Amino acid sequence: MPYPLNQAQDCPGCGHKLTASSEPTPLPFGAPKAGDLTVCLYCAKVLEYYGQGCRLRAWDENWLRLRHEEQAALRQAIAAVVSVTGGRA
Ligand SMILES: [Zn+2]
Repeated sequence: MPYPLNQAQDCPGCGHKLTASSEPTPLPFGAPKAGDLTVCLYCAKVLEYYGQGCRLRAWDENWLRLRHEEQAALRQAIAAVVSVTGGRA
C-alpha cells in the first residue's frame, strides 16, 4: 500500500506533523513504499516507512544495509536539513 498522502503522520523524532514526501531526484519513482527511508525536514531524523499502511518509524540506523551511494545521499539529506534548521526541531 502506498504512502497515504492525505494523512499526516507524527515524526517519531520531533512530533511534527508530516504531510508529504518527495523524491530527491527529478525522476518520478512513485509514492514511498515499505522499507523506503526519508528524512524529517524539522529534526533531520531518518525515518523508515513500514507496514501495509506505510507508517513512519525511527530508522534502526543500520547504515551497513545501504549501498555506498545510498549512504552518501542520506548523509547529504541530513546535512542539508541540519544546515537549514541548525539541528533543532
Ligand atoms: Zn522530526
